Amino acid sequence: MAGQTKPKNKQERRAMKTGGRILGEILAKVEEELAPGMTTADLNRFVKEQMEAYNVDPAFLGYFGFPGHACMSVNEELIHGIPGNTELKEGDLFSIDCGVMYEEMALDSARTFPVGIVSEGASNLIEVTNRSLEVGLDVIRAGVSIGDYGAAVDEYVSERGYGVVKDYCGHGIGKSVHESPNIPNYGERGKGATLEEHMTVALEPMVTMGDEEVRVKDDDWTVTTVDGSLSAHVEHTVLITKKGVEILTNV
Ligand code: MG
Ligand code: MG
Repeated sequence: MAGQTKPKNKQERRAMKTGGRILGEILAKVEEELAPGMTTADLNRFVKEQMEAYNVDPAFLGYFGFPGHACMSVNEELIHGIPGNTELKEGDLFSIDCGVMYEEMALDSARTFPVGIVSEGASNLIEVTNRSLEVGLDVIRAGVSIGDYGAAVDEYVSERGYGVVKDYCGHGIGKSVHESPNIPNYGERGKGATLEEHMTVALEPMVTMGDEEVRVKDDDWTVTTVDGSLSAHVEHTVLITKKGVEILTNV
């Protein structure tokens, strides 16, 4: 991991706002494009075309050798799935995690989308995951510790009977995709690094319907739940302000 994430100057903030909006738009277009019968390779091609159209560079392609323009993970797969022959079916959960570089600044964002109509349980899982990030963001402003964020996310998710994945976490972001500090989705209030005004961080709750234990599959990339239960992931890159956060990777 690169060094400690720094407060961003005005020019860096402006670049990250523009790059973030582009990434948000690309992910919104993926949601529109997504349909049963498509493969994850089809969607990767779509993401590649979008990045070219917006004139942004892929941040994940070649990162530690990753072969795709985005990570694509289906159902029990949580993160880091490699786009390929997997064909999406009605009722699947599709998670996409995408990074772009814009004017030398990195942006990182993820969504979990339903493929067609999904079960009520799957739909609730997406809702709880999305809501957990909102709950975490609600407590953040300059001066708050990362433990405050983690505790808020963990409590919200655990109280509803879902699992919070502990093995992977959010992070600082700037000129590199991954900068210190790590930002877990659990923690103790008042503990851990303090978030400063104009820092940028990528926050990304990962939630499972069953046990929270995960493992890496034989492809050495894809992270999946051990018990095979469905999982979901949402991520935004955000700018810390005196009063709260500004979400950069929304449309
Ligand atoms: Mg990500
Ligand atoms: Mg990330």
